[in-house]
Parts: sequence; C-alpha cells; structure tokens
Amino acid sequence: MSFCSRCGAGKTGSACGGCGYQTFLNPRPTAGLVVLDEHDRVLLLKRARPPQAGLWELPGGFCDGWEEPVDAALREGREELGVDVVLGPFVGMYIGGYAFQGEVIPVLDCFWLATLEDPGAIVVDPEESVEWAWFPLHDPPPLAFSTMIRALQNVALAKGQR
Ligand SMILES: [Zn+2]
Repeated sequence: MSFCSRCGAGKTGSACGGCGYQTFLNPRPTAGLVVLDEHDRVLLLKRARPPQAGLWELPGGFCDGWEEPVDAALREGREELGVDVVLGPFVGMYIGGYAFQGEVIPVLDCFWLATLEDPGAIVVDPEESVEWAWFPLHDPPPLAFSTMIRALQNVALAKGQR
C-alpha cells in the first residue's frame, strides 16, 4: 500500500482510487562525463557519501527539474571538478538503479565524452568526492554503478575499433 501524492488516499496500483491521479514509475535522468586525457586515461572520482561511498565513479549527477541533460553535464562537471569541461560526442544512455531513502529508483544515466581545459586546476568538492585520479580506460577499478561500467566498455570498444 502506498499513498496518493495528490489527495493522500491509500492506493495499490498506479491510479488513485480516491481522485484518479496516476503515478508512473519513470526513470530519473542523470548526466555523466567520460573525461579522457591525451593518453586515453579516464578521470574517476572516489565517492564521499552513500550510496556506494568509497567506490569510484564518473563525474555527474541528477538533472534538476526541467534542466536539459546536456546542461546538467556541463554544470555537474564544473561543480564536481572545479573546472570547465568541453563536451565531446554522446556515448549513450543506460537504465540503472539508485538506492535512495530506503528504496531503489530507476535512473536513466546519460554519458558524454569530455575533455578539460585545464586538468591541472581540478579541485573536487569534498562533499561529493574524497579523491580523484586517472585510470586506464581499459582497466578501471570497481565502479559504483553498473551504467558507468557499460559506458566505459562502449567507449573502450569504440576506441579499439578505430
Ligand atoms: Zn488521489
């Protein structure tokens, strides 16, 4: 049993029996960055907080409300790395799970290739990340989210085919 977010009546399916309001379980979009350097190493951040604290991840985060994913990618890059990012080609989008407030919600993780104007100026947000490092694209450490593993595999595959 859950409760209608509009009228508060108890409900069992997607539609409220009280007011008819429909609630759909749709994935929430996120925007992430596959930042590569000139040696095809990928930039990873070590997560500072749950979920998956202590595991490595790609920079990125949730889109805010009506924010376009491409704008979220640029914003998250600036916020998490402290430098401007230059977006490259779109990598792909993947459905994953995100554990939050005691439930796992579906997310639609969208990834772009990216480069940094000034990698030497990276300053990570300590609320988000405890450290950052470059890793071989073909041999990353264990990652926090399965969608990131798939994105890196696809980028590595595309590079291998060139
Ligand atoms: Zn209702």
